[in-house]
Amino acid sequence: MTLTPVWHPFTQHALEAPMKRIVATEGAYLFDEDGNRVLDAISSWWVITHGHRHPGIMAAICEATEAYDQIIFAEYTHEPAEILAERLLAFAPSELKYVFYSDSGSTAVEVAIKMALGTFHNRGVARDRLVVMEHGYHGDTIGTMSAGERGVFNAPFEPLLFGVDRLPFPDPGREQETLDAFETICRKGTVAAILVEPLVLGAGGMKFYGSAVLSALKEIASRFGCLFIADEVMTGWGRTGTRFACEQAGVTPDILCTSKGLTGGALPLAATLCTTEIFEAHLSFDRRKTFFHSSSYTANAIACAAAVANLQIWQDEPVDVRIAALAAQHNQHLQRFQNDTRFANVRQCGTIAALDLAVPSGGYLADVGPRMRQLFRERGLLVRPLGNVVYLMPPYCTSAADIAAAYDAIDDVASIVLKETAS
Ligand SMILES: *Cc1c(COP(=O)(O)O)cnc(C)c1O
Repeated sequence: MTLTPVWHPFTQHALEAPMKRIVATEGAYLFDEDGNRVLDAISSWWVITHGHRHPGIMAAICEATEAYDQIIFAEYTHEPAEILAERLLAFAPSELKYVFYSDSGSTAVEVAIKMALGTFHNRGVARDRLVVMEHGYHGDTIGTMSAGERGVFNAPFEPLLFGVDRLPFPDPGREQETLDAFETICRKGTVAAILVEPLVLGAGGMKFYGSAVLSALKEIASRFGCLFIADEVMTGWGRTGTRFACEQAGVTPDILCTSKGLTGGALPLAATLCTTEIFEAHLSFDRRKTFFHSSSYTANAIACAAAVANLQIWQDEPVDVRIAALAAQHNQHLQRFQNDTRFANVRQCGTIAALDLAVPSGGYLADVGPRMRQLFRERGLLVRPLGNVVYLMPPYCTSAADIAAAYDAIDDVASIVLKETAS
């Protein structure tokens, strides 16, 4: 047993080795208490975009602390939130005109679901069904778990989860089944919204699908008058190669959720962006139509200042060029695994690369996952496979040499694990 009272997320403390303390971060690295340097190849759970402690973001945080801490966000507003909203709307797909702040990806999605149902409720229209995609992940609150894939993660809470309609995942060659299923559900006339992770289903196993499916889903949603919610919590801020993944499908969602990457990963913050139509469905002289949602730390002023600095980096620095370079490196290194029988489903979407280790028992709880983590850790890398799915999602500042080393480690680790599982 560990000697610390800290209970960590997604951690089985009975099986995990005692954890090293991280004492500093910089660029693509974490530094532990023993002076070891660790390459953060998954951007500290997908939040760090430019790199740890980007000077522009750190300076903005320091400056903000001279003036603010947390400020109540009803009855008063503040400069960082106002500036951020304007710049965020200019950065996101057009048609999105309002910004609702919260503090995590899960709450951004909860807010989106509530906005969608509130819109129809306030209009007096009986539409309250939510359509989601198989293998989806939208967070760990009761509402977002309800929308996500059901499994070992949420089995104990199943009695509390609400029902949703699930579309089959659009596997290559079977995209039409997904679209047909959506159209069939829409015909019932009870669908309020479809909620999807655009192009990449992250926690569900780095599953990719094409932009044509995304635009077709949007087209069906529009045709049947149901709202389109894009959960861009992971895919936003350049991860898939464009600012937001929806851009690749030419889709403007009715509601867009963003969080990871919003502050460059430095501080927790989230935003749910929506169209005028949704805002106006809650605009009324009748107080009952108010959008009733808040978190204590809504629009934390320091976090908002960090997000403004993040947007400034996107404007001033060649972020797109870095993303394209990282994508090109993934592409080049993945070639060597394309015809490698140790792997299946070698794939890439922008700065995200993934490949499945060809072991008989896949799934998130497969023992190979923790074993691979340990082997990567011994090689100075933070890589957390999702079961047998190995992926890299590094910060955009990662050097070509470090990317090459990460692929060498994958090669090495795969051989070791396959040898162990065969014996
Ligand atoms: C991480 C994630 C969330 C949840 O965000 P938290 O900040 O962990 O609550 C929601 N949706 C997607 C697609 C995510 O990847």
